[in-house]
Amino acid sequence: MNPAAEPIILLGPPGAGKGTQARRLEEQYGMTQLSTGDVLRAAVKAGTALGREAKTYMDAGKLVPDDLIIRLIEEWMQKPEAKKGFILDGFPRTVPQAQALDAMLQKRDLKLKAVVEMKVDDAALVERVSGRFTCTKCGEGYHDSFKPLEKAGECNKCHGHEFIRRPDDNAETMTTRLQAYHAQTAPIIPYYRNQGILLQVDGMGEMDAVHAEIKKVLNLI
Ligand code: AMP
Repeated sequence: MNPAAEPIILLGPPGAGKGTQARRLEEQYGMTQLSTGDVLRAAVKAGTALGREAKTYMDAGKLVPDDLIIRLIEEWMQKPEAKKGFILDGFPRTVPQAQALDAMLQKRDLKLKAVVEMKVDDAALVERVSGRFTCTKCGEGYHDSFKPLEKAGECNKCHGHEFIRRPDDNAETMTTRLQAYHAQTAPIIPYYRNQGILLQVDGMGEMDAVHAEIKKVLNLI
């Protein structure tokens, strides 16, 4: 068993800040972020068979079928990054996905370090997703109210000038995404609690405060 390679799962509803926090952990600790949402969006953009199949579900705010997602993770696991520590953001999202992940890790003599649940009230989430946008060049995330650009039209980080808003970040699709979270994803919380690896943080605070709390519960400070 290689403890340095033990993966971490960031769990929480859409808009909880999983992507932002995963990227910060990645920058600080050299772990690799794996966001199934990002991989799927890249596949949609590239127009691959996977992307075409996933798009209908994503546009509707529904979960992509388990077999497709599990295949995608299995492929990723073959990559060299998977041998370092990695942070899963947006996976698993159902109990069958969690079970498949356990089997994949076991096969590689790996085990999960922790599952960090970011708790955020549903009411705050619509506002959070409605204002968010991303730099297309470096992937830095922004928000109209909570994290605006320092200079209009220019990325704070890479000085890029192109930004993208996700088509599923709207109030209507959010209702379906939240329903999917509560009905299909929330059951993995007791699954991991029973394994004794569930940690919970208050995801309602400022990004820095949430980051500090995640580090604290992970004993990384
Ligand atoms: P995210 O960027 O994590 O919010 O994911 C965007 C969309 O991609 C979701 O609303 C789903 O349609 C799809 N998706 C991402 N990850 C998964 C997953 N693990 N299982 C099923 N669907 C997923």
